[in-house]
Amino acid sequence: MVKHIARNVCGWVKRVCICFIDFLFPASCPLCSAPVSTDGELCGDCWTAFNWIGNPKCACCGYPFPANLDLGFNPLCPNCAAGGCELDMIRGACVYDDVSRAAMLPFKHAGRIKYARFMSRAMIWALSDANIIPDIVMPVPLAYRRLVHRGYNQAVLLARPIARVFGVKMDLVSVRRRYRPNMGHKTAAQRAENIRGVFTVVRPDKICGRRILLVDDVMTTGATFSELARVLRKAGASAVYGVVFCRVARAI
Ligand SMILES: [Zn+2]
Ligand SMILES: [Zn+2]
Repeated sequence: MVKHIARNVCGWVKRVCICFIDFLFPASCPLCSAPVSTDGELCGDCWTAFNWIGNPKCACCGYPFPANLDLGFNPLCPNCAAGGCELDMIRGACVYDDVSRAAMLPFKHAGRIKYARFMSRAMIWALSDANIIPDIVMPVPLAYRRLVHRGYNQAVLLARPIARVFGVKMDLVSVRRRYRPNMGHKTAAQRAENIRGVFTVVRPDKICGRRILLVDDVMTTGATFSELARVLRKAGASAVYGVVFCRVARAI
C-alpha cells in the first residue's frame, strides 16, 4: 500500500517537473526553432523540404526510382539485378541534396548532435518495409584519430535508437578502422580503392553467424558499406544490412 502511494506520488512529481520544463523550454524544431508538439521533431515546413524516399525504390539497395514509374512488386536497379550489391539490403531515409546536406554538415562537424533524434526516427521509418531481424546494430566505425578530432561518432548517435527499436545491442568493439585521409570529391573507383583494407574484424566471435545492421549518416557511392560488408562476411556474418539517413541518388 505504502509502495503504491509512493509510486503514484513519484509519477505525479515527474509529470509536474516535465510540465515545468516544457513551460521553461517549449519543444522546438531542431532546424528552425519553430514550436512543435514533441521536442526533437521537425516542424511541417522543414519536414516537407526533405526529399524522403518512398516507393518505388530498388527492393535491395533502396535506390529511389521516379515516382511515375510502375515497376511492379520488388523492382531492382540495374546494379542489384546484376548482383552488384554487397549487402543483403540497404535503406536510406532521404536523398542527399542541398536540404539534407545543410542538416548533415553541422550534425557531423559542428556538434549539432540534437539532430540525431529526427534523423534516427526517419531511418527507423525507412526500415519499416524492410522486414529484417538483425542480431547486432553496428555504427560504421570511425578511425581513432578522427574520433579524437571530432569528439563523437555521428553514426553511433544514429544507431543507438535503432538498436533500441530492434531490442538488440549496439556493437562498437568488433571492428576497427584504420585512418585514411579524406575521400571527398573522388570517383567511385578511387573511393573503393581508398577504403580497401581499412576495416579489421578484431572480435570474429561476435560476428560469426550474426545478422548485422550497419548504420551510417550518408551513403555516397556505397564503397564504405561494401568494404565493411566484405570483411564481415569473411568473418562469418550470415547477413549484412545497411541504413543511412541520406544517400546520393545519381540518375541511372
Ligand atoms: Zn523547422
Ligand atoms: Zn539496387
